[in-house]
Amino acid sequence: MVALVFPALPTVTLPVTGRNERFPVRRIFCVGRNYAEHAREMGNDDKEPPFFFTKPADAVVESGSRIPYPPATNNFHHEGELVLAIGKAGVMVSEADAPAMIWGHAAGNDLTRRDLQAEAKAARRPWDMAKGFDKSAVVGAIRPGQLPDAALRCTVNGALRQEARLSDMIWSPAAIIAALSQMVSLSAGDLIFTGTPAGVGPLNRGDTCKVEIDGLQSATVTIA
Ligand code: MN
Repeated sequence: MVALVFPALPTVTLPVTGRNERFPVRRIFCVGRNYAEHAREMGNDDKEPPFFFTKPADAVVESGSRIPYPPATNNFHHEGELVLAIGKAGVMVSEADAPAMIWGHAAGNDLTRRDLQAEAKAARRPWDMAKGFDKSAVVGAIRPGQLPDAALRCTVNGALRQEARLSDMIWSPAAIIAALSQMVSLSAGDLIFTGTPAGVGPLNRGDTCKVEIDGLQSATVTIA
């Protein structure tokens, strides 16, 4: 076997609720504008088809972590979201076949450098540096199995910022998986952030931001 020039970095993993096993992360996909009220607060029509962006797998932050305020921004935002954890490979899947690819669910926070996103939108440039920066993907423990409709809440230092039902999504988890699988091959280990409801806003140094979804561990992060 040919040696590696330096040791490969370990696979990023996340805890699983109720099990002494961890979920290995492959890729992170995110849906933009999936709640009508948030699409409107960002100045967009609420009826466009789903679109996607990505974060690197090593952007994952476990719930309970303290992270630094990120560089290159003065407008660092929370986005509370449901995260789908994919457990089976699939490409060009139908909406009917998509639910069987879901291994579990987690609460997540799609941390965003909103000022860089606004600049990227204005200049028609990619969102990568606004969305896919270091420690930008907070994810709680993954709970295996199905998830009934639930409430999502995002609080900062205990004050409510975002509140919605998962059923308020424009595109359901099955529709998201079906649409994304027309673009790329999905595989076990993929995470999909399903979009955020209205109420996104800034995080400052010292803040603790908690994303709660009924039945799931919260995704909590403190800005150091
Ligand atoms: Mn988002």
